[in-house]
Amino acid sequence: MRMTVIGTGYLGATHAACMAELGHEVLGVDVDQDKIDSLRSGEVPFFEPGLPEVLARNLGNGRLDFTTDYQTVAEFAHVHFLGVGTPQLRGTYAADVSYVRAVIENLVPKLSGEHLILGKSTVPVGTAEEMQQLADELSPAGTTVEIAWNPEFLREGYAVKDTITPDRIVLGVRKGDSRAEEVAREVYATAIGAGTPFLVTDLATSELVKVSANAFLATKISFINAVSEVCEAAGADVTQLADAIGMDERIGRKFLGAGLGFGGGCLPKDIRAFMARAGELGADQAMTFLREVDAINMRRRDHLVQLAKHVCGGSVLGKNVTVLGAAFKPNSDDVRDSPALSVAGSLSLAGADTTVYDPEAMDNARRIFPTLTYAQSTEEAVRGADLVILATEWQEFRGIDPVRAGELVAAKRIIDGRNVLPVGAWQDAGWELVAMGRSL
Ligand code: NAD
Repeated sequence: MRMTVIGTGYLGATHAACMAELGHEVLGVDVDQDKIDSLRSGEVPFFEPGLPEVLARNLGNGRLDFTTDYQTVAEFAHVHFLGVGTPQLRGTYAADVSYVRAVIENLVPKLSGEHLILGKSTVPVGTAEEMQQLADELSPAGTTVEIAWNPEFLREGYAVKDTITPDRIVLGVRKGDSRAEEVAREVYATAIGAGTPFLVTDLATSELVKVSANAFLATKISFINAVSEVCEAAGADVTQLADAIGMDERIGRKFLGAGLGFGGGCLPKDIRAFMARAGELGADQAMTFLREVDAINMRRRDHLVQLAKHVCGGSVLGKNVTVLGAAFKPNSDDVRDSPALSVAGSLSLAGADTTVYDPEAMDNARRIFPTLTYAQSTEEAVRGADLVILATEWQEFRGIDPVRAGELVAAKRIIDGRNVLPVGAWQDAGWELVAMGRSL
């Protein structure tokens, strides 16, 4: 099938390349010329394991191309995926849907014939219906445009696998006449054929599925972090507690890792947008608990900074502090709302000489916090450190040899902000190891 993918960021570039991998003919479009030049030359402008190979293969076989020209997009296909950003609107909790609107305003007047736009961006409930009205107003005579919503659940770091073999496909369709299901069944024939559940809902439900999933995940993380605060006060161990409650299959161990909390381009802005939209709909009380989820999460960053000061004898002023990690999570170079960088920035403001190292996110981190010191390797980063903080749980950091690292630092002190280090090995090597939610 021929299709276009509008917006080629983390979501869109992955979707475009993976749809081509599944045998479709795909044209990706973005307003960012540099991004398009990079993708056309076979370079993924962000870190995503496996994606460079998929991109190169499908550019090579001619099934995939990229452009900045909307006219070409309008003429290329009758099925369009929309994956532009929906960031937090400055000064409010609401999502900024102006990029979504801009796509409809740009594309629809250029279309002719019958078109289907499948929205993948995470949007406030009601957006799809609003975009349908806008598309109806802007469609040239004789042209019909249907808007359906097909929320995306990919995880950065596993985006290729999640796109090619998703754990479920959700499709929101308008009431009455719709050809979205028939088209989506063809687009996702491989996954559906392999048994992937395919759920067809109304538009509003599909929009709410995505934000509800993220709100649930955020709540689970903040739950264990709130319990972690009590564990610290009571002298209990939150990791053992999480293991124990996680064995109940109704609870599950995933997303019960106490530590520095969540960040990134999705969870924080999605829970805020959910609260904002619920308020607009008059259901604000239903989502007020998310304010607490957000507050618990943000408190983790401050708590880690306080721990760092405590471990350094009351102040980090003039101390060499190494922060391992800048990406919001491992296997990604995404630093949007990154807890690791937030901690590094706060320590720097508190007077610490802060050195950061991340296996993939250095360039992105440097753009946001140019004044921090950036090391080229873990070894370089920890050399001379008065305190090391593990802030993003990259495998590389989990596997640091505490004996070797102990020879490089000025003082053997480490805060495990993710509760992933083997405590015994570090203590045996003479380190003072401080972990969140545990008294070691
Ligand atoms: P991103 O910022 O990486 O990408 C958005 C892209 O859209 C950018 O390249 C931007 O230049 C482009 N764009 C903006 N306006 C445009 C326009 N008018 N026409 C064409 N392109 C335009 O964001 P992302 O992380 O890919 O997220 C996109 C959407 O997908 C968001 O709604 C997000 O919540 C959702 N989502 C993201 C993920 C994820 O893991 N990143 C997962 C699921 C859902």
